[in-house]
Amino acid sequence: MAQPLRLTIDVEVLTEADLTPAEAATWQAARAATDHAYAPYSHFHVGTALLLDDGTLFRGTNQENAAFPSGLCAERTALFGLAATQPERRIVGMAVAARPASGDFVSVTSCGACRQVMAEYEHRQHQPIPLLLPGPNGSIYRFGRLSDLLPFGFTADDLPKQRVPEV
Ligand SMILES: [Zn+2]
Repeated sequence: MAQPLRLTIDVEVLTEADLTPAEAATWQAARAATDHAYAPYSHFHVGTALLLDDGTLFRGTNQENAAFPSGLCAERTALFGLAATQPERRIVGMAVAARPASGDFVSVTSCGACRQVMAEYEHRQHQPIPLLLPGPNGSIYRFGRLSDLLPFGFTADDLPKQRVPEV
């Protein structure tokens, strides 16, 4: 007999006043980063901030291209940029913000491709990364871990064990 499997994800619904000082700084950095989006086609500015274990913040923004598939989301420019330049750093927090080119901040969530990448970097550092996303009506969603956005996600654990050592 089939057994149902029910998933639960704990998401806290907050206001800015509920954030810790470090979370508030990350949240504001994600918002400020939207000023540096390159979004001449969508006119949708997205910013990401990563809080690092040394207390610094690393930002990313969406980068679009006339050849549409060549662009990249803010979450991935941040994660790839950090891994390329400061691979020794651990990520201890992440926030995403979005707004129209001219207008107020809006509710947003990460696309499927970014969810896959976010889960990979969390898996890579063996430590959950809390995430702040803008919810409806000015609320803030706090997820305990990036992988909460991707239940049943594919990870390196699903690959066959490497037979040739990495050089
Ligand atoms: Zn994305």
